[in-house]
Amino acid sequence: MRFGAAVLRSYESPFTVEEVVLGRGPADGEVLVEIAGCGMCRTDLAVRRSAGRSPLPAVLGHEGAGVVVETGGPNTGLSVGDHVVLSFDSCGHCPSCVGAAPAYCDSFASLNLFGGRGEDTARFTDAAGLELAPRWFGQSSFAEYAVVSARNAVRVDPALPIALLGPLGCGFLTGAGAVLNSFAVGPGDTLVVLGAGAVGLAAVMAADAAGAVTVAVDRYPERLALAERFHAIPLDAASADLPDRIRRSTDGGARYALDTTGSGPLINDALRALRPTGHLGLVARLHTTLGLEPGALDRGRTISHLCEGDAVPRLLIPRLIKLWRAGRFPFDQLIRTYPLADINEAERDCQEGRVVKPVLVPKGRSR
Ligand SMILES: [Zn+2]
Ligand SMILES: [Zn+2]
Repeated sequence: MRFGAAVLRSYESPFTVEEVVLGRGPADGEVLVEIAGCGMCRTDLAVRRSAGRSPLPAVLGHEGAGVVVETGGPNTGLSVGDHVVLSFDSCGHCPSCVGAAPAYCDSFASLNLFGGRGEDTARFTDAAGLELAPRWFGQSSFAEYAVVSARNAVRVDPALPIALLGPLGCGFLTGAGAVLNSFAVGPGDTLVVLGAGAVGLAAVMAADAAGAVTVAVDRYPERLALAERFHAIPLDAASADLPDRIRRSTDGGARYALDTTGSGPLINDALRALRPTGHLGLVARLHTTLGLEPGALDRGRTISHLCEGDAVPRLLIPRLIKLWRAGRFPFDQLIRTYPLADINEAERDCQEGRVVKPVLVPKGRSR
C-alpha cells in the first residue's frame, strides 16, 4: 500500500512530504486508519534534539485521529467506518498496564519512542525501498494512513469533528489528566500552571471545569491572554517576586503546581509557592540536573513526574469530549489546521509561539 506521509530524514533537515510504502495491511489486533488530522506535539519536535536516540528516517506524528478502513482479525473491537482517536501505545499485560497505569508501561519507551511492535511490525519504506523507523508512538500519523494496535484506538461519536480530536490523545490528555487524574482537583482547590502552551492550557481548562482557582505563568503575553480567557489569573514569568505573587493569588499558597517548562528556576519558584503538603507535577523532559533550593521540599511538599496525565485513554478521552460538548473544555480554540504539505510552516509557527496546537490535515488521499 502506497500513500503520502511527512518523512524526517535527519535531525536538522525539514520534513519532506512524499510517497511511502507499507508492506501489508493490519495484522491480528491491529486496524488501518485513514488519518483525518494529526496534532503536532513537543515530543515530535524533541526528536531533533535526541542526539541519535530516536531512529531516522521516520514518519513522526502521534496525535492522529481518523476513520477505520480495515480491521485485522475479529478481535479488534472496532469496525470499518468507526471514528477513532489514537493515543500512546502500551503492552496491556505488564504490572503497570494491569494496574490501569498504561503511561508507566514497562515497554513505554520501546513501544512509543524507539521501535514499535517489534518483529511482527509491517515493513515500512520510502518509495525507493529505504527502511523507515517503525511506528512512532505506535502510530506515525503525519501521513494519510496509519496501522495501529486497536488497544490505542479510542472509538468516538462520528458526529464529532474528527480531524480536530487527535490532540486529545497526547497533549491535551497530558495537561487535563494531570489535573483530573493525578491531582484529582476539586472545587475551591488552587493550582499554578507554569507554561501556557498546549499542555498548560489544557490543564487550565480542566481546572476551570473542576471549579479550581488557577494561576497561569508564562513569558508570552498572547499565551497569558489565552489563559485569562479560560479564567486563569495571568502572571508574567519574569515577575521579580513570582512565588509571593502566586501565594497572594492562591490564599497563601497553591495546593498543586504543574510545570510544563522544565526550567529549574521556575520549578523552584513553583515549590516555594506551594502550601504545606502541596504537590508539584513535572511533565517536561529535563535537559540538565535539577537543583532544588534548601527548604524547597519542607513541610510535606512532594514532587513527581507525571506521564500522559496518568490517563487510561479509553476513559479520559470520552470524558474530555463530554466536557467539550458542555462548553467546559474548549480545546478547539487552541488549534490551527495546516495541510500536511505545510508541516514545516506548522513547525516554525509552533517553535516561535505563533500557534498553540497545529493540526496537520492530509490532502489528496489515495490508496
Ligand atoms: Zn505494559
Ligand atoms: Zn505528545
